[in-house]
Amino acid sequence: MKIIKQIYKFGGASIKNAEALINVVKIIENEKDLIIVISAIDKTTNELEKLVNAYFKDCDSKNVLLNNICDFHTNYLKGAFIDNYDEALSKLNILLSELRNKINSQPTNDYDLEYDAIVSYGELFSSSIFSEFLKHKGISNSLIDARQALITDSNHRDAKINWQNSSEPVKNIFGTGTGIFITQGFIGRASNGEVTTLGREGSDYSASALAYLLNANSVTIWKDVPGIMNADPDWCSFAEKLDVLSYLEAIELAFFGAKIIHPKTIKPLENKDIPMYVKSFKNPDETGTIIKKLDYKLKLIPVYILKTNQILISISPKDFSFIVEENISKIFGLFAQYKAKVNITQNSAVSFSASIDGDNRYFKALIGELQKEFYVKYNTNLELVTIRYYTDDAVHKMTNGKKILIEQKSRSTARFLLQC
Ligand code: ASP
Ligand code: MG
Repeated sequence: MKIIKQIYKFGGASIKNAEALINVVKIIENEKDLIIVISAIDKTTNELEKLVNAYFKDCDSKNVLLNNICDFHTNYLKGAFIDNYDEALSKLNILLSELRNKINSQPTNDYDLEYDAIVSYGELFSSSIFSEFLKHKGISNSLIDARQALITDSNHRDAKINWQNSSEPVKNIFGTGTGIFITQGFIGRASNGEVTTLGREGSDYSASALAYLLNANSVTIWKDVPGIMNADPDWCSFAEKLDVLSYLEAIELAFFGAKIIHPKTIKPLENKDIPMYVKSFKNPDETGTIIKKLDYKLKLIPVYILKTNQILISISPKDFSFIVEENISKIFGLFAQYKAKVNITQNSAVSFSASIDGDNRYFKALIGELQKEFYVKYNTNLELVTIRYYTDDAVHKMTNGKKILIEQKSRSTARFLLQC
């Protein structure tokens, strides 16, 4: 069976308005056999997150938020000036009224489940509009519902793909080997039928999962930056593009929090030796960054990764026991249960500290649970800076004038938890 060998992923910025759509068409118009994974338009996912919160708390604002999301997509479609407008609008309206019905129903008490049921609409809207836009441009395509293809576990908001259960549907659906397929990134389905999402920015992971399951030749992630940079250009004016990265290096960067790639993206590609290109949709002819197997050791310039909104939790046992295996495993068990993302840890004989992402909605519950057995203190609004291939100069640049709460150095990586 011939199978599609090329996968492109377009993020929210690359389809943020009609002008951007035209740019995307230029990139794909000469392709014949291609899977296109698409994210929600622009900042739609953030808006849907606000909607979930209002829905869950039953605030009046839910109707305003819902109307804004509906109007935004309807106007977007109108602004695309397509010949098949009526058909495109009726398809979009079906999705919009599904979302409306959902928002008018009673939520269960499972926030994460409700989150996935609602936030997944961002990609359903964008893929439907995008597919119709391509038809208008004379590019026939099949729109595939990713919920029928990518089967995940039930860990809502951070689901993992079940490779075994996804293999058959993915091959059956995409297995014709010809044509342009469009599908949603970021969303899938648990085996009990519920919609799941793969974690914020998870469309990259969808693209690499499809590549893995179809033994693709390559994945290309189209971005609004020239490639993978040694720092976020919005944060550091000196950011430079990295031309080549090994899989391992890319995994390390994503793990430490480089926002450019979703952390779960690289491993499936590494397992099958599938290269990933990160390119600019503004300058498609430029080379971008390639992530692939390297048989030489890369010499990289310092790479800076910033994680903001960190909370440092310091924990010590009330019974004066030491921080050893038993206490540590209890603490980590609670972190996992309350979905706390731990970014850096440090311990002494009688105390243990961990910095976690500050946007954790279960934070108060976690602290309450920890306080049953431990004395707990915490500091909010901290920054975690990681420098791969650090130099004295790089460290100075990042820490100068700031209070360092935790400092860790290995041969290649320095990490600093800083008070802003
Ligand atoms: N739309 C989702 C998000 O913004 C997924 C993605 O963009 O990859 O997080
Ligand atoms: Mg997005």
